[in-house]
Amino acid sequence: MKWCCVQMRSLIDNAGERGLSAIAVHHANLRGVFLQTRACDVDLQDQFRIELSKAGVITHFCVESEQAIKVCPWCGTQIKTLIESQMLDFDTLASNHVPLVLSPF
Ligand SMILES: [Zn+2]
Repeated sequence: MKWCCVQMRSLIDNAGERGLSAIAVHHANLRGVFLQTRACDVDLQDQFRIELSKAGVITHFCVESEQAIKVCPWCGTQIKTLIESQMLDFDTLASNHVPLVLSPF
């Protein structure tokens, strides 16, 4: 899928990894892009929680969060326009990102 700018491309490439990323979300005929933050890579998340628990650290805090966006925060491109111009590619990416979604819309 072609993204609006190198910054957005970089965040999409970082999906599921520690730090800031962007994920494609398609749920119940709604499509969008969420900015997402993670304290650790998604494949280490369960281990991360276990280790915190073993260490006696209270685990009732957020180790990941996300926020839907309407425009690219770097170049101002409308996300809806971007998605609609490449619907099939977007839906394929969103299918790959399903395990990363914290709460769809
Ligand atoms: Zn952009």
